[in-house]
Amino acid sequence: MKFTSLYSGSKGNCYLIQSQESNVLVDCGLSLAMIKDRLAQMHLSFKCISAVFVTHEHTDHVSALPQLELFEKVPVFVHEKGARAVQEKTLCKNISTFDKTFQFRDLTVDTICCSHDAAYCCGYRFSDGTSAVGIVADTGCAPQEIVEFLAPCTTILLESNHDVDMLMGGPYPYKLKKRILSTLGHLSNKQAGEIVQQVMQTSHNVKNIVLGHISQNNNMPELAFYNVVTILENMGLHEGKDVKVAVALQDKRSATFE
Ligand SMILES: [Zn+2]
Ligand SMILES: [Zn+2]
Repeated sequence: MKFTSLYSGSKGNCYLIQSQESNVLVDCGLSLAMIKDRLAQMHLSFKCISAVFVTHEHTDHVSALPQLELFEKVPVFVHEKGARAVQEKTLCKNISTFDKTFQFRDLTVDTICCSHDAAYCCGYRFSDGTSAVGIVADTGCAPQEIVEFLAPCTTILLESNHDVDMLMGGPYPYKLKKRILSTLGHLSNKQAGEIVQQVMQTSHNVKNIVLGHISQNNNMPELAFYNVVTILENMGLHEGKDVKVAVALQDKRSATFE
């Protein structure tokens, strides 16, 4: 299975997961034009997209949904517990819901509940029977279940939103800082590092770790990258050799990981 971040960050998120029979998107922030632009860079048209899976109703994850409903006939899946909030936010009517693990074409779709200030936010894991891609972002904490959820994956997209010192010393109002730092906010670099460490202690599957939802105001891609690389080095794992580490950016499509 292949994973590409089309874009990732506080302004908008969209990830492409490809298997033998399916090309699916997770989230669709920003605009349909932006999604098409990034797909075109990969010589793909939107017609090849088999479904869109939404994590939660925040704008940076759903803002292209109304355009999708209007111009593209593509199934949109939202967890039953979050569907109403997505419907109310986007006014979209054609939303399919699910409440447990299900099969979509050649993909087994699993979800896990994230701790976030949304009606319901979930992480996704797609498996084709030989490998799996896991996406966990927009969560203020990561209990053991999330570590176990990610452990079977070959490729992981994990949030590494902010550096705590940059956030505290930065310009955000106190209330917003408190929200981001809370258990219903976003994962810091340090928290992401701890999750990576726990996943790598139990898993021999992970080949690619992509850090995403990086804050443009309270983080730097280099900080997120070296934080995780240092933790891996301390475990005797070398970046580029034992495991690949990359950072998904807002303004640039990532490489494709297999
Ligand atoms: Zn969110
Ligand atoms: Zn978000």
